[in-house]
Amino acid sequence: MDHDGAPSRGWSPGLLSGLRGHLSALLTALLDLLLPQRCAGCSAPHGPLCPDCRTLLAHGPRPCVPRPGCPPTWAAGGHAGRERRVLLAYKEHGDGRLAGVLGERLARTLRASGWSGPDVLLVPVPGRWGTRAGSGRVARLARECARGAGPSGTAGTAPVLRYRHPAGRQVGLGRARRLTNRAGVFVIRPHATFEHGGRVELVDRPVVVVDDVLTTGATLTEAARALRAEGARVVGAVVSAERGRASEGATSGTGNVRRPRFYKRP
Ligand SMILES: [Zn+2]
Repeated sequence: MDHDGAPSRGWSPGLLSGLRGHLSALLTALLDLLLPQRCAGCSAPHGPLCPDCRTLLAHGPRPCVPRPGCPPTWAAGGHAGRERRVLLAYKEHGDGRLAGVLGERLARTLRASGWSGPDVLLVPVPGRWGTRAGSGRVARLARECARGAGPSGTAGTAPVLRYRHPAGRQVGLGRARRLTNRAGVFVIRPHATFEHGGRVELVDRPVVVVDDVLTTGATLTEAARALRAEGARVVGAVVSAERGRASEGATSGTGNVRRPRFYKRP
């Protein structure tokens, strides 16, 4: 298939797509052989994650500082130092090798929150406006989380949310502007289905929303509103990182949670 959607002469779209997939996998394997893999967290050899960084990421998840209007949220870790670099390597630089580790971390977070259960639906925050359902990086994290949690931990994931219209970027905005930016921006996809197939019934369904980074909580607040409007019982949210919490050196244990700077002067 050409970029403009027209079939290429003599090559079926399925064959071309398969060839591209094989070539891409071959190229990746070749680069892995030729280039030393560095750790995404600290650039040490033994990538994609060195043993030290794996240990760091295995530290206990914690409840986030409550944000007004936002469902209760648990975070797998903080958003500083090596934890932040690993998440950015996945999120911004597309290092898919980290999806499994980050998803397993979210599964531990889900179990620690006490919200896991065989009927609990995981709903990822959607990617940008116009992207295909379930194609975003958060959706992949949710799938890996569901895999890690197993059938006793969740009923599966369903990318039921989509953008009603394009939304402005949240970066650099304060809480009030972020809330305005997100208000009413999500709607439920018609005929939503589970990732593994089967129609999703949202009425009275316990739902845990999944996102990558919690900042002011504006996105999770809006996701919960849209889901509740369809009758879902949003019990909470799990995120990879809470921005503003204690740095990576203080992520072990269950002691004090430093208040995010957003809430020192609301
Ligand atoms: Zn490392």
